[in-house]
Amino acid sequence: MSGWFGIALWKRVLGALVLGIIVGTIMTQIMGAPEAAAFLDSYVKPVGDLFVRLIRMLIVPLILTTLVAGVVALGDPAKLGTIGLKTIALYLFTTFFANVIGIIFGLVFRPGVGADLGGADAVPVDTNPPSAIERLLGIVPENPVAALADGDVLAIIFFAILLGIGILMAGKAGKLVGDLFTHASEVVLKITHIVMEVAPFGVFALVAYTTAAQGIDALLSIALLIGTVYLGLLTHAILVYGGIIRFVLNLPVMNFFRGILDAIAVAFSTASSSATLPVTITNVSENLGVKKSVAGSVLPLGATINMDGTAMYLGVLALFTAQAFGIELSFMNYVLIAVTAAAASVGAAGIPSAGLFLLATVLSTFGVPPEQIAIVVGFILPVDRIMDMARTALNVTGDATVATAVAKWEGQLDEDIFRHPADVPYDKPTTPDVADADRD
Ligand code: ASP
Repeated sequence: MSGWFGIALWKRVLGALVLGIIVGTIMTQIMGAPEAAAFLDSYVKPVGDLFVRLIRMLIVPLILTTLVAGVVALGDPAKLGTIGLKTIALYLFTTFFANVIGIIFGLVFRPGVGADLGGADAVPVDTNPPSAIERLLGIVPENPVAALADGDVLAIIFFAILLGIGILMAGKAGKLVGDLFTHASEVVLKITHIVMEVAPFGVFALVAYTTAAQGIDALLSIALLIGTVYLGLLTHAILVYGGIIRFVLNLPVMNFFRGILDAIAVAFSTASSSATLPVTITNVSENLGVKKSVAGSVLPLGATINMDGTAMYLGVLALFTAQAFGIELSFMNYVLIAVTAAAASVGAAGIPSAGLFLLATVLSTFGVPPEQIAIVVGFILPVDRIMDMARTALNVTGDATVATAVAKWEGQLDEDIFRHPADVPYDKPTTPDVADADRD
């Protein structure tokens, strides 16, 4: 037991991920793909589903308490404005590069040339998603309790920020409420640690099942598309995120990636950046030293609107479609693809396959009719998961990059923690810092 807990969690999670791929592959070889997938679905995947339920359970309490505590800790509502502006500017900046890399890789590797979409079952998608105005209005909850109950992240963020500002404005009268949220956020973080102990088992189960369920043959048939997407995502992670961490922020890149490995592995295995959010917040605040004022605000926003992996994916898929149907694209088409892919990635929910169902907005910019869109979606859907895993990992890495940058610029980064992370496992019960502060 103590040997198990003595291994740093990220090593256990990473080991579980690799083991999941190995077990999934071996079982497929021994039993055949459908049988292995059915067996893992019945007896192993429930452990993964349990893990996903556990972390999803924490999303709402964690966002609410951490964000309110974060705003209170900032002490000045004006600082929130600067954090917000820098966050959104950097989110847009990184998404722009994701678009460019996606389009360049799609042009270079030409994944759609020769693709045979003939056998695909059409999957119709909604070609009229809600307008931008409707979505913006939706950020303001008519009923905050309903927003909490529905897990409506943007509406919760909006309400939590206002609540924090209200507490600050109330001065002495708000202190008790502020302290309550500060203490509550510590408690919820501790619960996250408990849940994270299930991560190695959950990650193993999800990855073993997915490996068997995806089937090597199906993957090989679109290997070029998968390869293009993976290479693009990797390039973006190394050049853009690595570049920001190393050359803009002057911080060690390896510490960054190692610090968020749990989050990357959980994102990869769940294909959901919103389910990963509690892990991202914990990693970024505890391993990278980002103060909760920034982690609690930048990361929930990022998990909802910043999806570089999704933006890149939609760009590559647009080129794939054009190539598969022999459609010539002009420079203006590429610009429109980039803009709509970025907008769709903002609108995509942080759940599995969300990005794929927004493909219609991108494809309709160069006149692909709904019937053909349905065929492309039907063709990709059976193999989407494998690409979803990687783009979600990139989405989460992007959120962590921006949180680190904004924290550094705002003096909210404890560089000591970033540079010298304690390689210790989670977490013996400790006396909360807030309680210490009170005793002092
Ligand atoms: N699964 C992705 C995420 O949760 C969204 C997508 O489908 O692109 O970040």
